[in-house]
Amino acid sequence: MSDSNNLTRYSLICEKNPREIVLLRGSGCKWRRCRFCDYHLDFHPDPSLNYELNASILRQVTGQFHRLEVINSGSFSDLDSETTALLREICIHKGIHTLYVECHWLDRHHIAPFKEAFAAAGIHVEVKGGIETFDQAYRESVFCKGIDTDSPEEMARYYEQVCLLFGTTGQTQASMERDLTLGLQHFKRVCINVMTENSTSIKPDQQVIALFREYIYPKYRLEDRVDILMNNTDFGVGGSDE
Ligand code: SF4
Repeated sequence: MSDSNNLTRYSLICEKNPREIVLLRGSGCKWRRCRFCDYHLDFHPDPSLNYELNASILRQVTGQFHRLEVINSGSFSDLDSETTALLREICIHKGIHTLYVECHWLDRHHIAPFKEAFAAAGIHVEVKGGIETFDQAYRESVFCKGIDTDSPEEMARYYEQVCLLFGTTGQTQASMERDLTLGLQHFKRVCINVMTENSTSIKPDQQVIALFREYIYPKYRLEDRVDILMNNTDFGVGGSDE
């Protein structure tokens, strides 16, 4: 992951569910154990510094699509309370009717009160969970994701959307197809992240990625409910702005 201070933190997603997207900074993911992730390095322990940064990003939101996606390493509940209050205010003033946030499984009990607080202001919240794969044995032994259920139905009690991670050793065309089928069956939207080289020990498996490009990508490329990120900065945030 690039230096936290130089990341691009605001962007527009103009195709498939058009929305604005912001990368905010919180106190950091509490799990921090996913073996493929260095995203959790984007945090700061000082809430006032996070608020200062987040306020400058949130002030760029125009409301042009009436939908806003907020991401931060970890869960929305890792954002400081002033940032959350400003986010709510900005949604109200900019006419955002749908807000998307992320949440780790450990923090799922924060979802209901958060949704209620935003619903009181007429804002519908949808939550995205990094499930990565529905194969629990693979997910926990290879990715160390910290999700203690293999039931998509149980996951769907908390999440409207899921992220899947493709392109790692051991995955197959059939496993990726299965994940996508279950994802689309149980959730409104699926976001596929294709593994890219980062500072962790999990490396992209080019053979698996080739299978993905040949058999999966052409099938789902135009599916409106599926976002595909061949690089994790494809949404326009997270890269260096230098
Ligand atoms: S929960 Fe998310 S931010 Fe935390 S370690 Fe896992 S992938 Fe990274």
